[in-house]
Amino acid sequence: MRFCKLIVVAIVVLTSTGVGSMYYLAGQQAGPAITIAAPARFIGRAPPIDHKPCVKRFVDSNIPIDQRCLDRVVPAIAAATPDLKIDTTSPEGRLKAFLEINGNLRKKNGDIIASLAANSAPRMLWREAFAQMGNSQVESRVADRRAYFFGNQEIDRQVHLGFDLATVQQAPVHASNTGTVVFADYLGIYGNCVVLDPGLGVQTLYAHLSSIGVKVGDTITKGQELDRTGITGLAGGDHLHFTILLQGVAVNPVEWWDAHWLQDRVTRKIAEASLARATAGRPAPPR
Ligand SMILES: [Zn+2]
Repeated sequence: MRFCKLIVVAIVVLTSTGVGSMYYLAGQQAGPAITIAAPARFIGRAPPIDHKPCVKRFVDSNIPIDQRCLDRVVPAIAAATPDLKIDTTSPEGRLKAFLEINGNLRKKNGDIIASLAANSAPRMLWREAFAQMGNSQVESRVADRRAYFFGNQEIDRQVHLGFDLATVQQAPVHASNTGTVVFADYLGIYGNCVVLDPGLGVQTLYAHLSSIGVKVGDTITKGQELDRTGITGLAGGDHLHFTILLQGVAVNPVEWWDAHWLQDRVTRKIAEASLARATAGRPAPPR
């Protein structure tokens, strides 16, 4: 099996507003440079970052696409995406339309999701670790390299930016953590999609839902039911596509589901940075 390697680091830094902000660094190990995806206001004046690169191994997987699948997903996405100019009247047209959806529409959808980071609350709305969907089986992971096959022919390649979690059909979907709804609408390949904002640049995404039972601005508490799983968007079967985003970039939710990891890598660092800032500049106590 071939593996792709990626260097991934997440670091918490105190900002001028007194709250923690997070930098996310990612770069292909084979390449000479590490790309810094930081908020524009920090670029050029970020402090030196002490970091330890961690090599991750990602999975290559093959996704079979047949005509029955195309006949189900392509017209449905086209009907819900009026500005998508594709031909869905013939089998050939639906195959070509699938490639447009899987490529260009996927990118446009990703840009919309990334833009939501600008609306993140400047404070932590969460107090506990994030929760995985109850009793769910992991069908696919973040950064899986997917090759799409129509018959024996490879027709496309994409990177999967989330976890696919499955239990039973129409399973209840609960909020992974407390947050405010910043997106609740149909979104191309993601189908019925909800994005919650727990704050400080962290957001959680729930896709392929049967319907949408919340609206932008709602405050959702951890464990509250958002809706039910489904097959809307580009879904081969009933499941939840779940993503944790950091400043608009998909990260590994397994870490955020781990209370010890979250305490060591995020919560404690924000608390220490906040304390350091609060005490900076104060006169020394009398002796
Ligand atoms: Zn998925």
